[in-house]
Amino acid sequence: MSRNADLHKRRMAAIPRGVGNSLAVYAERAQNAELWDVEGRRYVDFASGIAVVNTGHLHPEVKAAMASQLEKITHGCFQVTPYESYIALAEALNRLAPGPTPKKTIFLSTGAEAVENAIKIARYATKRSAVIAFSGGFHGRTLGCIALTGKVQPYKAGFGPMLPEVFHVPYPMAYHGVKPEDSLAAIDNLFKADVDPARVAAIIIEPVQGEGGFYVAPPEFLRSLRALCDKHGILLIADEIQTGFSRTGKLFAVEHAGVEPDLMTVAKSIAGGVPLSAVIGKAEIMDAPVVGGLGGTFAGSPLACAAGLAVLDVIEKEQLNQRAERLGAKLSARLKQLQSKFPCIGEVRALGMMVAIELVKNRRADQPDAELTRAVVQAAGRRGLILLSCGIYSNVIRILAPLTIPEAQLEEGMGLLEESLTEASAGATTAVA
Ligand code: PMP
Repeated sequence: MSRNADLHKRRMAAIPRGVGNSLAVYAERAQNAELWDVEGRRYVDFASGIAVVNTGHLHPEVKAAMASQLEKITHGCFQVTPYESYIALAEALNRLAPGPTPKKTIFLSTGAEAVENAIKIARYATKRSAVIAFSGGFHGRTLGCIALTGKVQPYKAGFGPMLPEVFHVPYPMAYHGVKPEDSLAAIDNLFKADVDPARVAAIIIEPVQGEGGFYVAPPEFLRSLRALCDKHGILLIADEIQTGFSRTGKLFAVEHAGVEPDLMTVAKSIAGGVPLSAVIGKAEIMDAPVVGGLGGTFAGSPLACAAGLAVLDVIEKEQLNQRAERLGAKLSARLKQLQSKFPCIGEVRALGMMVAIELVKNRRADQPDAELTRAVVQAAGRRGLILLSCGIYSNVIRILAPLTIPEAQLEEGMGLLEESLTEASAGATTAVA
């Protein structure tokens, strides 16, 4: 039995099936955009561990920062014996967060924890309880977050009851005929039919839906939401967990719209692979909860904060915003070429290096092809390319390669993607015949 197969057998016996795996490829080591499995096989990584290593696996500068921290202290607990790196990273993020209002930052460990804390802070600051989120959105798997997440299977079904007073409205998706004005009308209708706007603490939105399928909110829609929130005293929370840290060509995706959120959740690529998340927000709002109301044992560990400071340095030095723009444009152009060859590619969507293709049958947006999507991901795995799918209909292939990927490897990965599309489409045709 191969080592991957052996580990997979052990994994199935020791770990619950609820933790899904997209590939039975067991990682041994990785460097920048390349990963090697336990059998020594090399892969081009178009997943970045779900958008976590925008600065590449084990960036030398991030690695050095962690190594040097390991010589000093790995855990003090900020609530017990605080340390400078937590403060320095908060100061940097406060300075870099969009908008002129003074900011404060709290660190947590996971994306879901950041979202939970943002909702707690919003509730405390507004003395209101309801939250509006978007269908297809993803905000995490904890009990509070699954109420906000806008996809029933596999995230919500069977785990209820949900947090009360959470309402969902459609996210603008031009490809599926949902216009920004439809989403705004749905909120208007919500205020008439379901909830008094004076009870709504926050609207939470991903500027580009991640797990939901890489739909990009038009900038004017985000500006309309800002105005609507201002009108009703509602806080606007931007969930930048997947879009943050230069993925979309700006440090944070809301910057494309020129919008200042009240609160912002960040995680994933913030610390180049070490668990870290944060809520960055307007200082006055962040200061609302009582002393002791916020925190966590591991939250903002010295190791994570050291890595986070190095990540910000790398982003600046290597001009990763510009690189994301440039590589993203190249990738989209290449995918649009593929669209004329493969009728299954219904749409190519991109904001910077957050790039996706939606796979459909008969060139119809209302006929998602989840089966083909699964087949492409598996075919890519066999060829040495790590790909991820997403989408409320599980029919979107997303590309989240490190922003530091050498161009030759980006080309190599695109070649492998094309071969995988060819193989999987041929399989689909054969299956139909
Ligand atoms: N929000 C968004 C936008 C995400 O993409 C994710 C993770 N995919 C989360 C929240 C939850 O993050 P975590 O898995 O670290 O809890």
